[in-house]
Amino acid sequence: MNCRFCGKPLTHELINLVNAPPSNAFLTREQLNEPEVFYPLKLFVCDDCFLVQIDEYKKSQDIFSAQYVYYSSFSTTWLQHAKNYVDTMIDRFGYDRNSQIVEIASNDGYLLQYFQEKGIPTLGIEPAEGTAAVARQKGIETLGEFFGRKLAHRLVAQGKKADLLIGNNVLAHVPDLHDFVAGLKIVLKSQGVITMEFPHLMQLVDDCLFDMIYHEHFSYLSFMTVQLIFRHHGLELFDVEDLPTQGGSLRIFARHSEDSARSISESVAAHLERELSKGLKTIAYYEDFQNRADRIKYDLLEFLIEQREAGRKVAAYGAAAKGNTLLNYCGIRKDLIPFVVDISPHKQGKYLPGSHIEVVSEAEIRRLQPEFILILPWNIKEEIMAQLDYIRAWAGKFVVPMPRMQVIP
Ligand SMILES: [Zn+2]
Repeated sequence: MNCRFCGKPLTHELINLVNAPPSNAFLTREQLNEPEVFYPLKLFVCDDCFLVQIDEYKKSQDIFSAQYVYYSSFSTTWLQHAKNYVDTMIDRFGYDRNSQIVEIASNDGYLLQYFQEKGIPTLGIEPAEGTAAVARQKGIETLGEFFGRKLAHRLVAQGKKADLLIGNNVLAHVPDLHDFVAGLKIVLKSQGVITMEFPHLMQLVDDCLFDMIYHEHFSYLSFMTVQLIFRHHGLELFDVEDLPTQGGSLRIFARHSEDSARSISESVAAHLERELSKGLKTIAYYEDFQNRADRIKYDLLEFLIEQREAGRKVAAYGAAAKGNTLLNYCGIRKDLIPFVVDISPHKQGKYLPGSHIEVVSEAEIRRLQPEFILILPWNIKEEIMAQLDYIRAWAGKFVVPMPRMQVIP
């Protein structure tokens, strides 16, 4: 198999998580009696452009009908993050009612709503129909399609080009990077700005965040590799910021290569230098990843088995993609974790793919009073601990599995 960006043969494995069902394929009780499809889950690093990427596997159209991952319930932390972003962008670039904002993977309008409030024209692009419909109810114009060259050309033909083009947590989920980035170039106004957020590969490797790996997450991106990809398509990165989201993300700012009026910030060179000095351009940097992931697995299993032997209950919180990768790679089943709590009513009453642990409502925590709550979306642990603060009434404790196993009283 070859690199999905530069086309060189891939020979270096980053990690082999062996196999897993699609992370969002929640099961009904009836489906527990049916065979379940597992796909190989393995990452490679290209020794030429250093793009970390998923192995190719046989896709089932039924299961992978949508490439963008749908975040069903936005946390309050995330909404605040979106609102702050909108205020900052308006301050910095001066958008007003004559501007056009376009967001790819706009979901239910969680972000565009804040531009809308200020009377700034917006367009959302969101292929998941249910979510797109929610956005339209809020009055946000939303196209129910995937983004690429084809859609970009059509928008241009309709006179729609972007002053600001946004994509949060979408770049990593795009199967055809070339088609997607070429589309960005087409639909961007000559003085327009692109911002994209994605989990930073350096954080993933440094902290061994292997639970960020799942089939729908095709690319694992560093700043230097994104710069290569954007340059290849006539786009230049002119600024970059570190964000605390997803255990450590980057927000990049891009413009047309020929738009020299916008100068390149010093943080661009600083970010490249930081990645170089860490060794992101050497294969050695990636070599110990599997061993470190296995250490996290053994620590979690030791803890769970110890509690099980002592007759103490450990419940999990947050039925999201990242939790499924962790539970499946560790081989955890309901003997070690009897139930997982999620606030989404669509998931309650269903079972996690692979591990078959039942998803229940928060009422079960109060009823069964588990001694420990394992927080699967550890990246928003502060918010979850505040929400479940009442478990301290029965001396309940929180457990965070990543980046290192931690018990929080
Ligand atoms: Zn490559």
